This record gives sequence, structure tokens and C-alpha cells, in this order.
Amino acid sequence: MADYYEVLGVSRQASDDEIKKAYRKLSRKYHPDIAGPEFEDKFKEVNSAYEVLSDPDKRRMYDQGVDPNAPGGGYGNASAGGFGDFSDVFSSFFGGGSGFGGAQGPIPRSQPGRDSLAGLNITLKDAVFGTVQNVDITTYSLCPDCSGSGAQNGEKPVTCPVCNGQGYRQQAVRTLLGQMMTSQPCERCEGHGTIIEHPCETCFGHGRVRAKRQVGVKIPAGIQTDTRIRLSSQGEVGEGGGAAGDLYIDVSIKPDKQFSRQGDDLHCWISIPMTWAALGHDVTIQTFDGEKNLAIPDGSQPDDTVPLKNLGVTHLHGNGERGDLVAHLQVEIPRNLNKKQRDLLDSFAKSHDKDGAAIPQQSRPVVARKGFFDRIKDALN
Ligand SMILES: [Zn+2]
Ligand SMILES: [Zn+2]
Repeated sequence: MADYYEVLGVSRQASDDEIKKAYRKLSRKYHPDIAGPEFEDKFKEVNSAYEVLSDPDKRRMYDQGVDPNAPGGGYGNASAGGFGDFSDVFSSFFGGGSGFGGAQGPIPRSQPGRDSLAGLNITLKDAVFGTVQNVDITTYSLCPDCSGSGAQNGEKPVTCPVCNGQGYRQQAVRTLLGQMMTSQPCERCEGHGTIIEHPCETCFGHGRVRAKRQVGVKIPAGIQTDTRIRLSSQGEVGEGGGAAGDLYIDVSIKPDKQFSRQGDDLHCWISIPMTWAALGHDVTIQTFDGEKNLAIPDGSQPDDTVPLKNLGVTHLHGNGERGDLVAHLQVEIPRNLNKKQRDLLDSFAKSHDKDGAAIPQQSRPVVARKGFFDRIKDALN
């Protein structure tokens, strides 16, 4: 019996939340569309572990030593019926009810396809304005040669001669409880009840082929990083050409060198000379809307901010309104003055600063001085 706790990497006491978190992480990591087809088994293992541990009844059963996912275990309906009641077990053996080994009746050839998952990295500018991007995905598509039927030349599947279309074979077995009927999927038709006499040579009768294709994804303006977008019916085509699952795109936004985002505002830090802060100055700065004029008012102080209205990120659910672009001023104090500059500043000081006047002095909570990158990080959070 597989250790489902180990598969998900959680402790036996893990909460539902921890299990869900672990599952989300691993299902993303091992999804065959991302990790490659060789991880399909690992992916299945993670899924069956989650199927059991996320269901309180199944988890209890598993903790008592019974694997609800074991093939032929006969307790397929445990989540609905519960396991504790002997009559339930009894009826699942004799009642011909559903859930016995999953072998009741033929299995349809056409099965619904699974969901697919792909990742997409976009720029901050794409998030500001929205974009349409093409994503390459490798997934199952409808077989072009048989259109999903799995048979050559438009042949129809014929009734299986071994099980006469039942899809399973019944056998009488003696046990302590008396004689019981067990059923096994028919090996000839793999439980379908029909066989394809001349399977399509392109898909070997599966009705689908693994192929690479391009999907156009519309990214709405204002999207947040780590958003999952769903494209219905763009996922895997199922066995026998069954209806395609959905395609999920995990969108993340790359960090930008000039701007950090906080909500729908963009922040940037600009270095200006002390004289611009004191006297005021018009500067040109780069924005996602091209070069814009920024008017630094006279008397600006270090860390003052100057907003440019409506040049931030487009609101996700708005009518095109946008956040602001906020410029933070870093005032540079000049170093290495030459003689002339020093004399000029000297005479400025004499006219402006009163030597010997009391210097304001007060206590404040001590905080570590933050560097440029710390502040960007803060703004991002
Ligand atoms: Zn085919
Ligand atoms: Zn058969």
C-alpha cells in the first residue's frame, strides 16, 4: 500500500489545509504538461493520495489500514456509504451494486479528457495594459486520421466475442462467507464490450495523439501575479476522442527594473541633485506610456513623492481607470566639490544658515536604515 502521507510529504497529523497546499504544489510540479510525460505516474500517485487524504471518510479508512483506492477493493463507494457498517460491505459483494471493482457494464470508449496546465511569464507592462499571448502546450489532441474513433477507414467497433459486449466476466468463488460472484474486466476488449478490428495506425486506437499546439491567451489589463486563467475545453482530448478538459494557465509577472507595483500604483525612485530639490526642476522620466514630464516642486525633501496621475496599472474591473505612477525623490548631496563650488556653497551657507542656533534634537523609535532594494521589496509586498 502506497504511503499517501509520504507521497504528499505531510505528517499523519496534517490539517486539511496543509494537505491541500502540498497537493497544489506537487500537482503543479509533476503535471505531465510541465514536467514531461515521464512524470505521468508520479502525477497519478499524487492525485490518488490527495483523493484519499482530502476526503474525511476515506482518510479515516486509510488510517485504519484499508486503501480506498486499491483496485478490486470493492469499497469504491465508501465515501457515500461508509465502511463501518457490515451490511454495506455485504451488499457490495452480493447486491450487484455499483462499486465492485469498477467492472459493472462496458466502459465507454470515449472518456472525458483531463485538464491541462501551462505557465506563462509576462512583463509588468503587459499587466498594465493587458495583452494577447501565444502559449505552446503539449497535450492530447484529437487524432487527425480517425477523428477520435480509433478505427481505420471509418470502421465501427464490433461486439466483443469474449464477453458478448458485457465488458466483464463473472466468476464464482468459494469463500468463508459462501459462494460469491466476482467480476473481472474482460481482457480482450479491456472492459469496453467492443473491439476495434483494425485500429488506426496513427493513434493505435486511442483516438488521440500527443501533439504540440499554440493557444492564444487573453491577459486582462490589471492582472495580478500568480493568477490562474481557465480556457474551457482547451485541455486534453480524452481517450476515444472524448470531450477535452479545460486548460489552465498560471500567469506570473516578471519583476521590472524600473517600476515596482503596489496595488494598481507603480513606484519608481529617481536620484536628483540637491539643487533641484531646493529650487524645483522639471525632469523627463520614462513611463510605460513613454517619456513624461515630472515637475519637482521647490523645497522638496528626501523621500518626498511626486505622483503622476493615471499612469499606473489599469484597474482589473474598471472602465479603463488606472492607478498612479509615484516617483520617490532621492536627493543626492554633492561630494568632491572643487574650490569654486565650495566657495559658492560657503557663501550660500553664510546667507542661509545661522551658526550657533539651537539644533532640533529628539528621540524616535530606532529603525534600520533601509536601502534602495529594501524599499522596492516593501513596495512590492
Ligand atoms: Zn487515430
Ligand atoms: Zn470483452
